[in-house]
Amino acid sequence: MVKNDRIYLDYNATAPIHPDVIDGMSKIMHHVGNPSSIHQEGRESRKIIEQARQNVSDLVGCHPKQVIFTSGATESNNMLLKGYAPHRRLLVSATDHPSVIYGGVDVELIPVHTNGLTDLGALEDLLRKGKAPSFVSIIMVNNETGVIQPIKEISILVKQYDGLFHTDAVQAAGRIPLHFPSMGVDFLSLSAHKMGGPQGMGALIMQNGTNPPKLIHGGGQERRQRAGTENVAGIHGFGIVAEIALDNLDNFPKLEAYRTQIETALKTSHPKVIINGEDAPRVANTTSLTIEGFDSSTLLMSLDLEGISVSAGSACSSGSMQASHVLKAMGATDSQAKSGLRISSGWATTQGDIDAFIKSWTKIIQRLAN
Ligand code: PMP
Repeated sequence: MVKNDRIYLDYNATAPIHPDVIDGMSKIMHHVGNPSSIHQEGRESRKIIEQARQNVSDLVGCHPKQVIFTSGATESNNMLLKGYAPHRRLLVSATDHPSVIYGGVDVELIPVHTNGLTDLGALEDLLRKGKAPSFVSIIMVNNETGVIQPIKEISILVKQYDGLFHTDAVQAAGRIPLHFPSMGVDFLSLSAHKMGGPQGMGALIMQNGTNPPKLIHGGGQERRQRAGTENVAGIHGFGIVAEIALDNLDNFPKLEAYRTQIETALKTSHPKVIINGEDAPRVANTTSLTIEGFDSSTLLMSLDLEGISVSAGSACSSGSMQASHVLKAMGATDSQAKSGLRISSGWATTQGDIDAFIKSWTKIIQRLAN
């Protein structure tokens, strides 16, 4: 839970866990039973897993058999990138998550336009020039900018060249409708904790007939695709949050009202504020800004001292405060990319949080600019 004296605006890094998920998981943790055991306790654990699989499949409109539970989207992405590396050319979006870009070897980057949308002409050139069939991975909703890629359109292109197509839909799930069967993708990655589920839980959704090489070998769990005793409580928590996310899908666009207030205030605060990806389709909760001449770590720490949590670029690289590879791919200079900040809201965000952010931001910028 977010502490009372804090304003949490970093949902794209992780969302506060939903109280129903905590309740559900703590009940399950009292239950003993390996889901592979055939006695009653084992069968009960199996039932819990299959119910969660149903819920996750409902969220993306696929068959439960197409859902493989993993330890998170990093694992789902690595399974594919590592698995297909020896057999296919790996083409991945230059703005993809590090678990994709660094998930395999010899990846070739697909450029994006300055608004963050995939450069389809460049993708077609890449697809055309290679001899080996491709494995293409394009992030559906970017974690730093919130930019939404036209996945269906891209899939048509990839399929013309017999490519396999994967999308990381971690930041799309629960935010925009997902219908796996009509997206034209072979694989889709999910993570529970961006929706208010537990950390360390993810899924890989697979088209029938695709058998990606395994990453983890051993027992026959998850239809022999992913060995290891299942995280029953975690899977249950994922199932609960998948149901909540689906039920609340229509409410998510309401966060746009907050985003508009934030972006108006940001632009008013300093002439050098740029909202990244502003003219592309974006999810309602994410603002990515650069403000050249200001260091993102200074901005982040100043906000932190005011009790406000945001992120500098993506959380995964924020320990080192490097220039954002996403913003650089969108044409930002090194110094712009080092000033990148991400503000992301979610299910527990209130108008009071937004008011407090705007007040603190205005104060900080006035102080730093002088
Ligand atoms: N992909 C995207 C787009 C993400 O935002 C994240 C989380 N930073 C991941 C993958 C990794 O997910 P997980 O934390 O479940 O490994």
